[in-house]
Amino acid sequence: MRVLLVEDDPELGRRLSERLQRAGIAVDCACNAEEARLWPDIEAMAAIILDLGLPDSDGLDLLRYWRAGAASLPILILTARGGWRDKVEGLNAGADDFLVKPVRFEELLARIHAMCRRHDGRAASALTAGDLSLDPVGKMVTLGDTALLLSRKEFNLLHHFLRRPHQIHSQAVLVELLYALDTERDHNAVEAHVSRLRRKIGKARIQTVRGMGYKFIP
Ligand code: CA
Repeated sequence: MRVLLVEDDPELGRRLSERLQRAGIAVDCACNAEEARLWPDIEAMAAIILDLGLPDSDGLDLLRYWRAGAASLPILILTARGGWRDKVEGLNAGADDFLVKPVRFEELLARIHAMCRRHDGRAASALTAGDLSLDPVGKMVTLGDTALLLSRKEFNLLHHFLRRPHQIHSQAVLVELLYALDTERDHNAVEAHVSRLRRKIGKARIQTVRGMGYKFIP
């Protein structure tokens, strides 16, 4: 999955991005409100982590702007402002969750996963398709009674597919998913990851839609 991190503190932004990426989450960073506001295709993100104290505007204005534009993705406020009024205002402006800095990374990660589960309308954390099951928290994939060994990219691909069955996923979207903005992108690698994933979960589960991309058949 892929998140947008809106954070103007470069050191904190870098540390958070690194840890999120190590946890298997691709991260794009916006370091001010203007950059975040102009971010293309915001709904393609799994979630947004939003700082309130931004140099050019208040994060709450940005939050209201996104919600006014009917953006429905989960948004978590991560801020130094920890008063109850700030929390009430943030949640009322459309945030799904609110965390006060400094925060344990483990808690931030757990809340991101919980928020995405709620957003997907799932109480349990596992995603299933027939006898295939993926647990995004425990990072486990099983096929029947067998645990599958997937690389991080294969796991992220499968997670993305399971959340959006029967939809067509273009190469471009999958490249975005697998490679953060600051790393080198490789379109051929997507094909290679998909074919390795196919071998592990069953060929028929991922169809190639000629000239358009891939479709997951649950
Ligand atoms: Ca700040």
